[in-house]
Amino acid sequence: MTPLARLLIERIRETGPITVSDYMAECLLHPVHGYYTTRDPFGVAGDFTTAPEISQMFGELLGLALAQAWLDRGAPAPFTLAEAGPGRGTLMADILRATRGVPGFHAGARITLIEASPALRRVQGETLSGHAPLWLDRIDDLPERPLFLVANEFLDALPIRQFQRGPDGWHERLVGLRDDALAFGLSAGLPQVPRTPAFREARDGVLVEDNLPARLAVAVAAQRLARHGGVAYWIDYGGWRSQGDTLQALRQHAFDDPLAHPGEADLTAHVDFEPLAALAPAFAYDSQGAVLTRLGIDARAERLAQGLSGERLESHRAAHRRLTHPEEMGSLFKVLAITSAGAPPPPGFT
Ligand code: SAH
Repeated sequence: MTPLARLLIERIRETGPITVSDYMAECLLHPVHGYYTTRDPFGVAGDFTTAPEISQMFGELLGLALAQAWLDRGAPAPFTLAEAGPGRGTLMADILRATRGVPGFHAGARITLIEASPALRRVQGETLSGHAPLWLDRIDDLPERPLFLVANEFLDALPIRQFQRGPDGWHERLVGLRDDALAFGLSAGLPQVPRTPAFREARDGVLVEDNLPARLAVAVAAQRLARHGGVAYWIDYGGWRSQGDTLQALRQHAFDDPLAHPGEADLTAHVDFEPLAALAPAFAYDSQGAVLTRLGIDARAERLAQGLSGERLESHRAAHRRLTHPEEMGSLFKVLAITSAGAPPPPGFT
């Protein structure tokens, strides 16, 4: 049993079952035992790997997309160049390297990282040494100015609640105890549930998820965009209307029971993009493969391949495929770009 499992069992014994959201929040960000608070989980030695860690091309293309969007909007300065949930800082480092040649972009950028984990802030500081980023705890603290934001695999790490509809109405899925071990159960009937389309159209027996922190994060960004202009790219795995239980745990690159190792496995849920897009004045949405292709990944991959041979060339080709191919991350991962009403369309979309 993990130390956090012991604490949670004690807490549930005293005060009763907790929501899936409370469970996820404790597992990921408990100050002492939380998954992100205590470690750098990425890469071969960690539990999972992400697009920016797979290839520099991901951040380069997003960087050029942001710079193009900034030019399309008349190069406002100063502006916030933000990343939510920056992990190791790799994506921001690639964005900054790719945009070095864009006149005025670095001079106008106030590099801002929204990061809850002290351990990862340290790693980001090392990756971005020489750039003096500003860290924020919460997306609500984003300053009032033009915003150019990326977030890769950030929304999927925010705590979700799960609800199930029965013949007698809605219940919330809870984490309680069975035989002194953590176990899922259902709450008593609820007077009300969130009012997103997935809830309105759910049939009996179906489990529906709600990511309130994701809705709040996108709403804050949308509000900055509406007031000051800019663009925000949210990249994550998920779909337009996910239904069913998508809570998943990853530990040492393998799926794990979400209740088995609290604090020692990554917990995520598919992102349901429909209620997020609805919060934006204007948006574009497509698969990661399609967006990266439009941003020019094939040409960039060829260019980089010219300097490589042998195993390094093989692994570069594999990374290109992994980011774009429909059977890999290409169609499971989606990109939601939000902008202000009447703004030029975000680069990467038709
Ligand atoms: N974008 C990175 C890392 C993704 S993992 C990549 O693609 O490699 C999720 C990131 O979000 C981590 O940096 C984690 O510490 C951060 N995070 C998770 N929950 C958060 C929250 N509530 N507020 C701010 N950051 C959070």
